[in-house]
Amino acid sequence: MKGCTPSGWLIALVGLAVPIAITTAAEDDRAAERALMVQEQLANRRGPSRSSSAPPPSLSGDGAGGGAPMVSSRSVSEHLGIQNPKVLDAMRTVPRHWFVPEGMQRDAYADRPLPIGYGQTISQPYIVAMMTELLDPKPGSKILEVGTGSGYQAAVLTKFTPNVHTIEIVQPLQKQALPRLQRFGLAPDQVLHGDGYFGLEKEAPFDGIIVTAAADHIPPPLLQQLRPGGRMIIPVGPVHATQRLVVVEKDPAGKVRSRTVHPVRFVPLTGGPRGPEKK
Ligand code: SAM
Repeated sequence: MKGCTPSGWLIALVGLAVPIAITTAAEDDRAAERALMVQEQLANRRGPSRSSSAPPPSLSGDGAGGGAPMVSSRSVSEHLGIQNPKVLDAMRTVPRHWFVPEGMQRDAYADRPLPIGYGQTISQPYIVAMMTELLDPKPGSKILEVGTGSGYQAAVLTKFTPNVHTIEIVQPLQKQALPRLQRFGLAPDQVLHGDGYFGLEKEAPFDGIIVTAAADHIPPPLLQQLRPGGRMIIPVGPVHATQRLVVVEKDPAGKVRSRTVHPVRFVPLTGGPRGPEKK
């Protein structure tokens, strides 16, 4: 029973204290990286001026295109920095490195998408912040995310409302995301495996719907599951090419209006009426 003597306990405690101290220091470093990311890449984002003679609209890269994100359309140049302080706070708070694979930890706070396996990506921080700002979730809003991926976007949304549901078509990704999102208060029935083209009928209607994969049309079930007064953010356009980030609003009378805000590039929304093999 040597280990039970008081000095044995002390050794055991000292042995424990070191890794905890290291972990805390590492998390502090990561928090500092996040603060820098928010300050330099999100809040004070710079792009070509409107008088620039640069070639026409480049992409806000997400996953499909890779490479450095660029923005150059007129509407983008007017909204380069993220304005909403709550969005900036959320981006400062959620540890993106918890959602990034082991081998990519060094790039966790770079403003670019990263591969997460199964041909999918975790979106670039600027895109996550911009889509969140456009969605503008309020405390208590009921939100559906289509395309859980790593879970990062959903975790950011939990900083606004606990009422977040997210659905992912690739089951291993959904399984990996669940324990991460449980740390942010989501329950297993809020992190689901399934084809988000069809939304989540049993939880509808939603105040907000955010789709993080590109569709060639706005899925009618999602439109139908949007509450009057609600808003959907969705990339629409061809696969593996430039798409349009579209804001869809349903007014209290149920009338739908949409506007394009950004050129983007996302991985495709699979599934839908033609099944999972559709690419
Ligand atoms: N939001 C994610 C994050 O924060 O990491 C990034 C999403 S990634 C760019 C797009 C995700 O959408 C992929 O994980 C992909 O498997 C998923 N997806 C594609 N089609 C889908 C569908 N019909 N239903 C649900 N998820 C889908």
